[in-house]
Amino acid sequence: MSVAVHKDISERARQARKALTDCNLCPRHCGVDRTAGEKGFCRLDDTARYFREVLYFNEESELIPSYQIFFSGCNLVCEYCAVSQWNNQPWIAKEVDYDFFAAKTSYHFSRGAKTLNLLGGEPAVNIHGILELLSRIDSGIKVVWNSNMYYNNIVDSLLDGIVDIYLADLKCGCNDCSKKLLGADDYLEVVKRNILKAAEHADVIVRHILLPGHSQCCLEPILKWMKTEIPQVKLSLWGNYFPPVEAGAAPKEYLMPREYIKAQEMAKNMGLNLIK
Ligand code: SF4
Repeated sequence: MSVAVHKDISERARQARKALTDCNLCPRHCGVDRTAGEKGFCRLDDTARYFREVLYFNEESELIPSYQIFFSGCNLVCEYCAVSQWNNQPWIAKEVDYDFFAAKTSYHFSRGAKTLNLLGGEPAVNIHGILELLSRIDSGIKVVWNSNMYYNNIVDSLLDGIVDIYLADLKCGCNDCSKKLLGADDYLEVVKRNILKAAEHADVIVRHILLPGHSQCCLEPILKWMKTEIPQVKLSLWGNYFPPVEAGAAPKEYLMPREYIKAQEMAKNMGLNLIK
């Protein structure tokens, strides 16, 4: 982010905190006053909390080493969520110590970290805390917004010029699946809109974790949409789906190698900007 934008972040953090008094940060439109302790769909008040921080190497190659901070709380309810305890009960996570994380970020960057990776849960529902943190870190640090992209315009405005790379986790390719698997039947419209907006002012990587048995309903529509709307945007396909113990509507099996290879070939044949 530029020095000029960096100076502005404290003011944006104040705006984000103000937005919590009638919270409409995301399409759940809860309208609760989180600063008064009220909680909406994401079960968060105004205290930003985290449940993990780690220097991580298993991300897209241009991002690593990546210093990751996992904020608790989410606005989706994914059937295959790997960190559901932190989203169902975000209050059990630790309160963010901004000065500690600012110092830790500097420490990792002085030793070769390439990116600061903000994720969750979902970072958008914690944007006030994230902006507070970013106001305390060096302006030269590369910021990755690792998000489900399910948020309202206010979040996009607050991030404009601050985020260097949007790592957009595009989970499903149709609203039937998003309703069953994520608990959101307006998911696609919102997420596509936000990815297009993000691509106007920053780098974007669309990441799709391949879901076993969801090629026709999810993978193919995503690839077709990208080819039509954002053919230049980077695409990252992951084959690391883990079936949950209680699968519910989620796939109950692991992805087969042939499914992974077929998906890669499909993306390549469509001329998409596939990365590793
Ligand atoms: S951020 Fe949380 S409280 Fe605010 S609208 Fe979204 S789900 Fe509701």
